[in-house]
Amino acid sequence: MEYDLLIRRGRVVDGSGLPFYVADVGVKDGKIAEVGKLKGSAAKTIDADGLAVAPGFIDHHTHLDAQLLWDPYGTCEPQHGITTVVMGNCGLTLAPVKSGDEDALVKSFVRVEAIPRFALEQGVKWAWHSYGEYLDNLEGKVGVNVGGLVGHIAVRHNVMGEEAVERKATAKEVQQMRGLVIEAIEGGALGISTNRNERHMREDGKPVASRLADDEELFALCDVLAERNAGVIETILGRNKIEHFEFYHELAKRTQRPVLWQSLQHRWTEPNLWRQQLDAVEPIFRDGYRAYGLSHTVPLVRHFTLKNSIPRRGKKCAPTSPIRVPRTFIAAGTSCGWKSS
Ligand SMILES: [Zn+2]
Repeated sequence: MEYDLLIRRGRVVDGSGLPFYVADVGVKDGKIAEVGKLKGSAAKTIDADGLAVAPGFIDHHTHLDAQLLWDPYGTCEPQHGITTVVMGNCGLTLAPVKSGDEDALVKSFVRVEAIPRFALEQGVKWAWHSYGEYLDNLEGKVGVNVGGLVGHIAVRHNVMGEEAVERKATAKEVQQMRGLVIEAIEGGALGISTNRNERHMREDGKPVASRLADDEELFALCDVLAERNAGVIETILGRNKIEHFEFYHELAKRTQRPVLWQSLQHRWTEPNLWRQQLDAVEPIFRDGYRAYGLSHTVPLVRHFTLKNSIPRRGKKCAPTSPIRVPRTFIAAGTSCGWKSS
């Protein structure tokens, strides 16, 4: 057999930017052996007439850190053609972690990503401390390619314990945090993520730990990437303010590393926002630095019911009181102003 697998007459979208073209794809020993009009025999043939044939997509913004521990395929990523996921975004990771501090991380995931506490308590078996150990724990157990950023929230809790959600770090603590980031990068992290979104709180209503960090702390941690000339910096500042671009510019200039910001958006309440964002990011690229805006692949429509109170847990609301309403009032809408990530 010339090929192990032959995919016939598919519309090949090869990722080069070219329009699709109709071709056969021959696979041998797990690799693409040839693309074109192929005549060889194959152990298995798939007729892909009318279907797209493409490399697996990369979802570079996920919060699958916990889910992959009980759902190794990261459902529903593969169903959308995604074969590689990046987790650890928005400052949220399950490592590094000290014994006894696990619940601080659970509290952050429960609230920011609306992952039920029950699922985290049942599904996460804390068999690691360092970020590298966390990645090693996934090795051989997942059905998608996985990479991850180390989260500022976990790094801060690891050094400061519960004071991470109360105060500024001392210079000594920042040095300890730098050590954890170095260890994480050497253990396989693809970069660092942080979170300054004023809507992102823990389950107990306290701000997620990274929100307490000043510029000095954040820059010191990101300097680890600059020193190694490796890795990306993922940020979420919240509210999409144009003045944020000065911060992205400074961060990209100081570290020379790619900065990922959230998010490039169109919304009808601010119809020119996306233009202003693109205008604001232009000088950063013109100066030779990189600051990539994340965006949504579909319109961001917020569906919610009154079964839980997360959409209404803004800073003006009581932090933990659930909304109790008769079931007949369960409703859906788009105007809560809540953003999940
Ligand atoms: Zn996120």
